[in-house]
Amino acid sequence: MKAEQVCVCKSGKKYQDCCQIFHNFKSKASSCEQLMRSRYSAFICQNAEYLLATYHPDFCKKRSIASLLEPSSAWVNLEIIAATTLGDTGFIEFKAWYFKDEKLCCHHELSRFINNDEQWFYCDGEFYPIDLSKLKRNSPCPCGSAKKYKKCCL
Ligand SMILES: [Zn+2]
Ligand SMILES: [Zn+2]
Repeated sequence: MKAEQVCVCKSGKKYQDCCQIFHNFKSKASSCEQLMRSRYSAFICQNAEYLLATYHPDFCKKRSIASLLEPSSAWVNLEIIAATTLGDTGFIEFKAWYFKDEKLCCHHELSRFINNDEQWFYCDGEFYPIDLSKLKRNSPCPCGSAKKYKKCCL
């Protein structure tokens, strides 16, 4: 992603004013939501170093960098549904939309984050199944195209 492009984390800001400073370790995310967004954009940018650095070592289970990146997924949209912080623990519920075999799919997760020494880390998450047949035909398509679902990915 180029510095002057709009950041893929859907913040609406330019990459250079958004996740780039985290991705190149010039600054630290000040909230778990910011960390979550910067990890989402790091997945898209294939920045394995950043993903590992922000994955809590007690939870990382020494997964290989390759398995973290899963290049088969084409992420298209991120929706933060709820963000809660209780002291050093944060919870974020989100839906991340992607295409697999040209079909729109959704990863719905409640993620847990821990703040350790002024640094937020991703710990683990609970995954929810999603029923795409419940999406309303006339609502905006979750892929982020701004078209109606029935005219887009349905
Ligand atoms: Zn960003
Ligand atoms: Zn769509």
